[in-house]
This record gives sequence, structure tokens and C-alpha cells, in this order.
Amino acid sequence: MKKVLIVGAGLAGSYMAYAMGKKGYEVSVLEKRPDPRKTNYGSGRSINLVVSHRGWTAFAYAGIEEAIRKIVVPAYGRQIHDLEGNETFFQYNIEGKAIHSISRSELNKTLVELAEALPNVSVTFDAFCEHVDFSTGTAHFSIGQETLSIQADLIVGADGAGSAVRGAMMKQPRFNYSQDFIDSGYKEVHIPAAEDGSPQLNIDALHIWPRREFMLMGLANTDNGFTGTVFAPFDGEYGLDHLPTGKDGLRYFEKYFKDAIPLIPDLEEQWENNPTSALACIRCNPYHWAGNTMLIGDAAHATVPFYGEGMNGSLEDVRVFLELLDEHGDSDMNAVLDRYTELRVPAGNALVDLSLRNFIEMRDLVADPSFQLRKRIEQKVQKNHPDKWTPLYTQVKFTNIPYHDAKAEGERHDRIMAQILAIDGIEERWDSDEVEQEVLRLLTEMA
Ligand SMILES: Cc1cc2nc3c(=O)[nH]c(=O)nc-3n(C[C@H](O)[C@H](O)[C@H](O)COP(=O)(O)OP(=O)(O)OC[C@H]3O[C@@H](n4cnc5c(N)ncnc54)[C@H](O)[C@@H]3O)c2cc1C
Repeated sequence: MKKVLIVGAGLAGSYMAYAMGKKGYEVSVLEKRPDPRKTNYGSGRSINLVVSHRGWTAFAYAGIEEAIRKIVVPAYGRQIHDLEGNETFFQYNIEGKAIHSISRSELNKTLVELAEALPNVSVTFDAFCEHVDFSTGTAHFSIGQETLSIQADLIVGADGAGSAVRGAMMKQPRFNYSQDFIDSGYKEVHIPAAEDGSPQLNIDALHIWPRREFMLMGLANTDNGFTGTVFAPFDGEYGLDHLPTGKDGLRYFEKYFKDAIPLIPDLEEQWENNPTSALACIRCNPYHWAGNTMLIGDAAHATVPFYGEGMNGSLEDVRVFLELLDEHGDSDMNAVLDRYTELRVPAGNALVDLSLRNFIEMRDLVADPSFQLRKRIEQKVQKNHPDKWTPLYTQVKFTNIPYHDAKAEGERHDRIMAQILAIDGIEERWDSDEVEQEVLRLLTEMA
């Protein structure tokens, strides 16, 4: 197995191109968009992303961690902004570990550059994949008025949520697929640095203005500005569909995110001109076909962005696949791809479930006193018994525990904490040894 064809030079595709190139494969990448280094990078797509432990593990696996560390901004916790403008900081993790914000375009350009620098990797832009023929292992592209067909030993669908490669699989019998839009969408607004170049918000935090049905989120950029994203339902009085003009946007901010208005001098203009985007979850099974084609990233499991794990999970797909190749070699691709599907379909499904769950947590529960109490109790138990209690958020963002195992453990924690929060006078006694002992007892009972 020597020739690898990757469809899509987004985050997962360009990372895989580099990592496979380093292993000595002959890699061709074909991407429908123009070269991101020469044009304005995909307008309407999220501007920055959170890199978590899984992303770092993938970068470290390929030996490019240091190159990526140069272009990130760390966040050590969530800073919650309430309706009155009060702010509270919640550290993510007792060891003071951070998640990292990164510009999507910087990361994509860096990965494309790294891949292209390898002599055995070629990247072609403006090449749209039309179809894949599994019987011959051939993908067909249109490049302007021309057409191009490429045969390869392995075709990788890294072509995102609207994947053409997955589209070809969907025509096959017994290929399972679902797509569900949620009733909320998002709009981004840029929060610039202050005139003197300093950040207008605490640069060490991910900022959230939770308002039950909707929220504003702020993620730092390397220039001390922040990307603000409003996630909100499309319908209802303050639904995104009913707020088309800049004046509507300002009225909305005045009611719900008042303290953010002075941070965004051109709020009305941005609100009116920036696109409103929809959010969908995609699941499918299997993640490979015919022993010669596989799906990675959003092509396999696009999800809503509320855990900030879509890219991290996509990079993890690639890392897990490469480790399977390390272990088994490439002489029996059928077996490697079977195992890939076996490992990654449950992980992809759990990633989607966890992302939906975190939507509720971020917009709703972080503003809820009993949620905050639960976090305090969990942090105390984790601090005193790190071998027994790892909160779900920590498992997802700061470990490589498979998403489906993290999800199952998180559900066990829910059952335990429901009993703990029902203890009489828990608000006053949460810090007591007695409560801690009860958590430990329930952990054993519900093992
Ligand atoms: C608002 C928002 C915020 C997000 N925040 C985070 C975050 O904080 N952390 C995180 O981990 N994830 C985040 N995500 C998710 C993340 O963006 C995706 O999971 C990630 O981009 C998936 O990478 P990918 O390479 O699979 O797909 P993409 O990045 O979408 O790349 C797919 C590529 O394929 C190309 N392509 C598509 N069709 C074809 C075709 N027919 N022929 C050739 N090329 C084609 C596309 O042009 C594109 O370049 C966020 C998503 C959104 C919407």
C-alpha cells in the first residue's frame, strides 16, 4: 500500500497528509477551495478553535507540537458574565492545566505548509471531488473545466460535513447515516484588543455569558482580541431569524449582553454583515468501505461545537488510524479499516452526544447555583482522590480516554451527584468530610 489520496485539505486532511507523508507514503491531497495562503480564508467558518489534549497528542505523535504551540493562546478556566455584569472565574482543572485557543486559518495554513514541504506529498487546490468509484479505488474531480481521475490504494474522505466521499458511501446498501440540525445557530462578532493593544477581557479565560436558551462565548486570539460567538435559537422573539439588522443586534445585546457592548465598537455593522450559520450533527456507520476508502473528521461525525472537540476528535481519528498502521502494517488494509471503524464509530457517536450535552451545560447550567455547587464538590473530591474521580469535562478535554468511556463515566457521576445534591442542607455542608465520604461510598456502590 503506497498511494494515498486525501480528499479535503481542511484540518484533519492536512494533518493526515503530513503524518502519512512522514511515514513514507505517496500522498496526494485535493481540496475544493483555493490555497488558504493566497486568499481570504473560508468566510463564514468559525474563526478560532480550542485545542485540547487529544489535539496535542495528535500533534505530538506527528512531531509538530512545538510548531503549533507558537500559535496558541491558553485559557485556564471559564469566566462567567451574569446579566448584571458580575464576573466569576471557574478554573477548569485543579492542576491549573489549560485548553488553547487557535486561529483556524493559521492552523490550516501551518499544516498545509508542513505537508507540502515533504517531497512525497502534493496538494492541489480548486479541485472538487465529484464521486468515488470503490470498485477501482478511483476518485473523480473537476478542476475548472477539466476533469481528473486518481486511483489510489487508500482514499481518505477528509471533506467535512458535506463529504462527497461519504455521499458515495451513502449510495451503498447497508451504509447507515443520519443528519440532524439543532434549532439553534450562531453568529460571530469580533472583540478587538484595546487601543493600547491590551486585551479587553481576562485573556486567561474562555468567557461565557450564559442566558438559559442562548449564550455569548468569547475565545482569545493571539492579537489580544477575542472572537465572540452568539449561539441562539432561530425562532422566538430574540431568535436569530428575527434579528436581521444591526439595530436588532444592538437591542438584543442591550437586553442580554450589556457589558459586552463597549467591547465591540462596530457591533451593529458586524451583526448585520456577519453570516448566521446553522449547526448539525452527523453520524454514520461504518467509517470505511470496500477495503480502500475511509472517512475521518467531520465527514464521519460532524457535531455541534459546544465541547470544542470536533477538530480534536478529528485529529484523534487520524492518530488512532496511524497507530493501527504502526501496529498491524498495511498489508491487510481490510483488517486495519475494520478495527478503525470498530474503535471510532462509538467514539464519534459519543462525541456528538457529549457536544449536545455541553450545549445545555454551557448555556444553562453554568448559571445554575446547584450546578456550581456540584462543580465545587467534584473539584474537592478530585483534589483529594484524583485516582477515583475525574470529572467528565477533565476526561474529555485533558485525557485521551475514549469519548464513549468518558460519556459512560460521566453518566455514573450524574447518578452519584444527583444523590449528593439531594442531601438535606447540602449548600452548607458541601465542604464536610461526611459528604466526601458519601461520594466515595456511592462510587463503590455504583461501580
Ligand atoms: C462555530 C464552530 C466552532 C468550532 N469550535 C471548535 C473548537 O473549539 N474545537 C474543536 O476541536 N472543533 C471546533 N469546531 C469543529 C471543527 O471546526 C471541525 O470539527 C473540524 O474543522 C473538522 O475538520 P475536517 O478537516 O474534518 O473538516 P473541515 O475543516 O471542514 O475540512 C474539510 C475540507 O474539505 C474540503 N472539501 C469539502 N468538500 C470537498 C470536495 N467535494 N472536494 C474537495 N474538497 C472538499 C473543504 O473545503 C475543507 O477544506 C467548531 C466548529 C464550528 C462550526
